[in-house]
Amino acid sequence: MDSILVSACLRGVPCRYDGRDKAVPELAEAIGDRRALPFCPEVAGGLATPRRPAEIVGGDGHDVLDGTARVVTDTGEDVTAEFVEGARRALAAAQRGGCTEAVLMPRSPSCGRGEIHDGTFDGTLRPGDGITAALLERHGITVTAAPGV
Ligand code: SF4
Repeated sequence: MDSILVSACLRGVPCRYDGRDKAVPELAEAIGDRRALPFCPEVAGGLATPRRPAEIVGGDGHDVLDGTARVVTDTGEDVTAEFVEGARRALAAAQRGGCTEAVLMPRSPSCGRGEIHDGTFDGTLRPGDGITAALLERHGITVTAAPGV
């Protein structure tokens, strides 16, 4: 059976910054008959739950990986290193599990695919990928944003 990496919060794990999960019934269809491998990059990167919300400032996840953007919390703490470490661990988990696809939580600075928050903490979105989504894509893993969220 094929495996697919899934944002842990979508599978009901209460690992979001606010200590909640984001389980949605639409996820089951996106996973299909594959084995879901739940993973939370931010927790894996060493961040606590709950935690301050964080956004990418100065670009998207690709820019963070390239060293030209960073991740900060709403109180100004730089958490770039934790987010990059979490992305690396997500990639390692995906590769270990033989995943060629991932379905991830939309708009997250880690898991977002196609659009993310723009770093102003006012709900504005911008085109781009989260750091984990960007790193997975760079290694040939197809990332899609989960439906219904
Ligand atoms: Fe969910 Fe991803 Fe945020 Fe973890 S890092 S809480 S899996 S969106």
